[in-house]
Amino acid sequence: MTSQPIVSFENATPPFWIGIDVGGTSIKLGLVDDQGSTLGFVSIPTEEPKGPADAMQRASSAAKALCVKAGVPLTRIERVGLGTPGSQDIPKGMLIAPPNHPHWHNFPIVRCLEEQIGINVSYANDANAAAFGEFWVGTGRVHSSMILLTLGTGVGGGIIINNHLVVGHNSFGGECGHIVIDPSPDARLCAWGGGRGHLEAYASATAVALRAREQLAAGAVSSLSGEANSVTAKRIYEAAMAGDAWSMKIIEETADYLAVGITTMVHMIDPGLVVLGGAMNFGGANSPVGRHFLDRILQSFRNRSFDYVEHGTTIEFASLGSDAGYLGAAGIARMEYQQKQ
Ligand SMILES: [Zn+2]
Repeated sequence: MTSQPIVSFENATPPFWIGIDVGGTSIKLGLVDDQGSTLGFVSIPTEEPKGPADAMQRASSAAKALCVKAGVPLTRIERVGLGTPGSQDIPKGMLIAPPNHPHWHNFPIVRCLEEQIGINVSYANDANAAAFGEFWVGTGRVHSSMILLTLGTGVGGGIIINNHLVVGHNSFGGECGHIVIDPSPDARLCAWGGGRGHLEAYASATAVALRAREQLAAGAVSSLSGEANSVTAKRIYEAAMAGDAWSMKIIEETADYLAVGITTMVHMIDPGLVVLGGAMNFGGANSPVGRHFLDRILQSFRNRSFDYVEHGTTIEFASLGSDAGYLGAAGIARMEYQQKQ
């Protein structure tokens, strides 16, 4: 499902783009117009073990069916955008070694999709695509620069500077979850690659659960005391909503870790806007716990930054949810099409 309103062909603004967001369990596809409005959306299973060629063939068929259903001739699609997890070689259009896609390693995914669909394809990292989606039509739409952090199983990221998406020399640009926030020799280990002290090892949903389990095992007093082996970030949110003080403390500690990373990134790039996306938002702006989480990040960032920098920096929740990926992939296709004209 998409949360975006569906516009009709008659009310849409040409030219048209298709955005494809490849995840671990599903592939989301959207037919998008030049304003970032969605004319059609479909989600198909990834079926990872069948490999990328099978997935791209099914994605191509699904994209063509979307166009038929929306009444948009395929010839009106100027470009397709594809986002996949890293690692990848963006200029070569290659998947390298995405950890959750073991059957998809070292595969020329862009060439494969182009052959299937017959339209030129732009390629991006999935988190970078999500950042570009928020930048184009979401929380960042009135900004020219921004940083997105996605808080989920891991911590993803994307950086846009003066309307330009940072891809990087090794297709590793914007991997904000892997900046170092703890230099100590016994700092926490990152799940991916075993880097020590990375932001992701403290502030992902996985890391929040791990930190919480350690504290519960050490005797922390909480309504979740019996869940030392099983507690999750979602349970911590639920307990905090019910007034559990220790759970709120875990959320505040998470906010402080994020604020350290955000301060480093803001002092390097000065984007003016930092957007928090991903499933772990502790209820987001509609929840008192989510608002407290965001306030704590802001306060903790202010304690570390300079007056004129903090006054000119907004930290806000993302607004597109899981639609950011396909919208951003379409937006990247649009940007690259315009650059080539
Ligand atoms: Zn890492």
